[in-house]
Amino acid sequence: MNHNYFDNAASTPVDPRVLKEMLPFLAEACGNAHSIHSCGMRARAAVENARDRVAEFLGADDAEEVVFTSGATESNVWVLNSFERLAIGPFEHPSVAQTGGCRGAEVLANDCQTVRPPTKPCDLLSLMWVNNETGIVLDVEGAAEWAPKLHTDLTQAAGKVPFSLAKVNYASISAHKLYGPKGTGALYAKGGCDLEALITGGGQEEGKRSGTLNVPGIVGLGAAAAIARDEQAHDFERATELRAIVLEEIASVSDVRVNACEGNSPFILNVCFLGLVGESLVVELDSRGFAISAASACKASSHGTSGVLKALGVPEEWARGAVRISFGRHNTRESARALGFALRRCVSDLREMATH
Ligand code: PMP
Repeated sequence: MNHNYFDNAASTPVDPRVLKEMLPFLAEACGNAHSIHSCGMRARAAVENARDRVAEFLGADDAEEVVFTSGATESNVWVLNSFERLAIGPFEHPSVAQTGGCRGAEVLANDCQTVRPPTKPCDLLSLMWVNNETGIVLDVEGAAEWAPKLHTDLTQAAGKVPFSLAKVNYASISAHKLYGPKGTGALYAKGGCDLEALITGGGQEEGKRSGTLNVPGIVGLGAAAAIARDEQAHDFERATELRAIVLEEIASVSDVRVNACEGNSPFILNVCFLGLVGESLVVELDSRGFAISAASACKASSHGTSGVLKALGVPEEWARGAVRISFGRHNTRESARALGFALRRCVSDLREMATH
């Protein structure tokens, strides 16, 4: 396990316990989950067990409320494209922001993590639970009355921070953000999926999403969800401790700005270093054996800096020097301290180089 990997918001390593459950379905348990022989029935039973586990993890009333997809992007786009008049949050992932943007969605105004209601009538509001660049937690439940249907992108919250889908109609998750495999996810749909079929064909997933089921991936998501349900509180405590260690290590650095709001997710630390470029820090830290990311990695505004930081009112000259450190189960106190130390050194080396 690479203890120096601190880009868990981009993707987590597969937990060895998850891998163990997946392996048979990548090898001898090769059946198609819709075949009627015993090999097929074994695969089908594993898929339905995974559906039960994901439903329980999400607090769903019924396993039928869970549809397996290829991940949160697919789930997000499916929901957004199913409604006419859209409103979306100010910090959404590109899968929501771009899909909504193309379809004339109203982008809600904000003051830090406080989001203001839509000004126009809408059929669906999509508001993420936790922002992927900064770890800002949004009050999704508080927005439930603003639209007839509420969708939340739960990708960075699932397995990390407490959440409830009591007031939510649709939610999206990706397995690889909670120690499962890439390319598998789910859509939660309260009361069962009432959306039009996303993919027509063989009629899998109650006719809503055709195509042979990704049995190993789904088994992995189910295993990851079951572990997350049991270990979420513990993981939260550990992330809180590791984030504090890194912050302590960089406390003496000048011209640093932490981009966070009240009740921030402890799994993400977004910091700006004035006068530097985030990508240079990422490359420099990589050469010293640490993986982090530039906050602007997947959501760049026209200026090349993060649209999320812009929405938070972070000035351009600061936003350029933003990096995102994201914590996971395999990180240790020692690795967090070593990262903080290396970051401090990199900042000072790069600043020194800039003045020569
Ligand atoms: N939403 C959020 C908040 C994310 O962080 C991500 C992953 N970067 C996604 C959606 C998309 O997930 P995937 O790439 O697995 O579809």
